[in-house]
Amino acid sequence: MQLQLYNTLTHKKEDFVPYTPGTVNMYTCGPTVYHYAHIGNLRSYICEDILEKYMAYTGLKVNRVMNITDVGHLSSDGDTGDDKMLSGAKREHKTVMEIADFYTKAFFEDCDALNIKKPEVVKPATDCIDDFIKVISTLIEKGFAYEAGGNIYFDTSKLDEYYKFGDFSGEDLAVAVRDDVDEDTNKRNKTDFVLWFTKSKFDDQELKWESPWGLGYPGWHIECSCISMKFLGEHLDIHCGGVDNAFPHHTNEIAQSEAYLGHKWCNCWFHVHHLNNKNGKMSKSKGEFLTVSLLKEKGYDPLAYRFFCLGSHYRKSLEFSYENLDNAVTAYNRLIARISKLIPRSDGKADEAEVEKLLTSFDEALANDINTSLAITALMDALKSDASPAVKLAAIERMDSVLSLDLIPHAQALLNTAESTDDIPAEVLELVEQRKAARKEKNFALADELRDRITSMGYVIEETREGTKLKKA
Ligand code: AMP
Ligand code: ZN
Repeated sequence: MQLQLYNTLTHKKEDFVPYTPGTVNMYTCGPTVYHYAHIGNLRSYICEDILEKYMAYTGLKVNRVMNITDVGHLSSDGDTGDDKMLSGAKREHKTVMEIADFYTKAFFEDCDALNIKKPEVVKPATDCIDDFIKVISTLIEKGFAYEAGGNIYFDTSKLDEYYKFGDFSGEDLAVAVRDDVDEDTNKRNKTDFVLWFTKSKFDDQELKWESPWGLGYPGWHIECSCISMKFLGEHLDIHCGGVDNAFPHHTNEIAQSEAYLGHKWCNCWFHVHHLNNKNGKMSKSKGEFLTVSLLKEKGYDPLAYRFFCLGSHYRKSLEFSYENLDNAVTAYNRLIARISKLIPRSDGKADEAEVEKLLTSFDEALANDINTSLAITALMDALKSDASPAVKLAAIERMDSVLSLDLIPHAQALLNTAESTDDIPAEVLELVEQRKAARKEKNFALADELRDRITSMGYVIEETREGTKLKKA
């Protein structure tokens, strides 16, 4: 099935066609590791994870790279405000590198809990300073960057078109950038941005490197262009991030990458919309945010949060409330309970053509701009269908290779922890005996019929190595 994705660059849904047939080069803006990731950040990574896994499901080979921002990101996302890493270090009386190590580890623990696959390449910005210096030097040579007041700036006036994502006019953009309180008078144009700082406004700037322009540190935007080009080459198929990254971060990434390469860089931009709480966008800088650990402390399974996220489309903002999460928990548990009932009824024989039939609408949903809520509906429909339990289980297993909700392991665990078989009505036990006999006779149709009658009386049957086990449904 042809994957279609909404491309923020062209403002339309398009066929996704990788530059090299069969292989996808995918880049993801990683976290700024000055604090825990909040569940909003993780919504973006969950959606990107589904995208990656769906592409792999369709047979594409995905090379995915992610940076870790441990230097250069200021609180404005532009060139003003506090240094995020420095503020984290101050908050906790630690060094920037200690903060970076701690929160990078915490980020991947959260990803593990949410079944978000770690990209093949994960690179901290501070590991790639030489690459940044090389690209900045070329940008200066090519006339796209200039030195002023000790810093190196990208000259946006040298581009035919600077803002590629939206319908902003130059005026609007200048206003967006003019929000700065401490406007930088070194800039030739409002939209110019820093590639390298040698004049830090932070007295206690911890991390500095030698460069042709003096001791200093990189701006935020240059890291993603350089790390992407270093590991994925000159042609990027897809670049992901939250929608807040589109401007200025991704806009500046395009500007500097294309100026450096002299040709188009990334074909498709995938932007995930925000998780909001009642005060608007959930954000680390506001200080009040929810983490995976907090959800766990409150007794939520992190995968129920994943399920909650999959219930809405990635291009719509998602409202978080405990009430909404609780509704998702109920639906997730119901789904697991229904799957658990299939397990004892499965004879393990799944006809491939039957399985494929159940997968069609699932595939269609995801091929249509990663419509996860429709994919979940397809899963529910598969459960309701008249396919055999073995076919249903095989289809669910394949769907879950993308959804990553651990549906079958959870269903199995539910079975294992079901109530003991005390107080089972005699009629039920009788049917169990009859079924045993039918199986011995290899009369599986009768055995299945008897199992259905047992199920309708509120019990499920499990075949184990020790023999048949019966539990309350
Ligand atoms: P940061 O750690 O701030 O660099 O952000 C990491 C990722 O989370 C980026 O792709 C952001 O665009 C994304 N992000 C930030 N806030 C939210 C939110 N409330 N909902 C969804 N994604 C977000
Ligand atoms: Zn980035």
